[in-house]
Amino acid sequence: MEIERVKCLIIGSGPAGYTAAVYASRAGLEPVLYQGLQPGGQLTITNDVENYPGYPQGVNGPQMMEDFKQQAERFGTDVRYGIATSVDFSSQPHKVVIDDQKVIEAHTVIISTGASAKWLGLESEAKFNGIGVSACAVCDGFFYRGQDVAIVGAGDTAAEEATYLANLCSKVYMIVRREEMRASLIMQERVKKTRNIEILWNTMTDEILGTDGVEAVRVKNTITGELREIPVKGFFVAIGHKPNSDIFAGYLNLDENGYIKTIPGTSKTNIDGVFACGDVQDFTYRQAVTAAGSGCMAALDAERYLAARDLH
Ligand code: NDP
Repeated sequence: MEIERVKCLIIGSGPAGYTAAVYASRAGLEPVLYQGLQPGGQLTITNDVENYPGYPQGVNGPQMMEDFKQQAERFGTDVRYGIATSVDFSSQPHKVVIDDQKVIEAHTVIISTGASAKWLGLESEAKFNGIGVSACAVCDGFFYRGQDVAIVGAGDTAAEEATYLANLCSKVYMIVRREEMRASLIMQERVKKTRNIEILWNTMTDEILGTDGVEAVRVKNTITGELREIPVKGFFVAIGHKPNSDIFAGYLNLDENGYIKTIPGTSKTNIDGVFACGDVQDFTYRQAVTAAGSGCMAALDAERYLAARDLH
């Protein structure tokens, strides 16, 4: 396998990875950044971002990530397509295999692999994935304009996506498993005020029905046990995310949900020279701006690590 040695390798291209890249490249670490499965990260499947400081009118998610990328490249970050497929953090320099084809030997590794959508785990959900089932309303809502759809979940994501879908679709059924929502009050109010959203409280998804595509969803009332079939063409899942930390599990300390543990107040993991930032290590805040802040921390920690060992 081809081997390349770098001072600083960044894995992932969301706000955390690109911010780490801006800082690392400006500090002369000549970072190489692999974009991963979803270049630009989760913000590329978002519509308007209204809560990132510096954009008084809001900004479109994909545009914001393009801006982040250009800023990182302007200072010399080598941004590449590719996915980290395995790692060996047992000795310095650390080894990261890209696309099962190439080994990057890195004195410092900054992990900013983010998180991915969770699924319900129903067989029918997997069967119809991409042909009626989606975890991204902003990406796929367009295909169901003028039709009836359902969305499962009751957090901010589900609330935001339900209102987004309501603008496109004739009717949106929101499937909520408890009798209250977890979403922030302002988001809940928006959902409740939207005339073509019907909230199904205390309701679980029993099965997604159809032959060549989704035709209906069978739901179950958790109190009465009553089953009901609702005709829909699209089924959206918005039930949270899972951190993308599987390939690091043999080396890094993870919490019970798979988030990488960092030493509080730093981006340091339990392995020297390996730093984590963004959603892969943040269960609590999970915001673009907190991810960007932690990316800055990771680059500064990496720089200090290299300087202390004369590897800079
Ligand atoms: P959350 O973890 O906040 O919510 C997940 C939701 O899915 C919960 O309502 C949960 O139900 C429900 N759920 C989980 N598993 C199942 C299941 N198997 N069947 C049915 N329902 C299920 O995730 P989000 O993605 O909504 O939000 C993540 C973070 O991002 C939050 O901190 C949120 O505030 C933030 N965010 C902020 C936004 C903004 O400010 N504009 C936009 C989007 C997200 P239950 O409540 O019963 O556990």
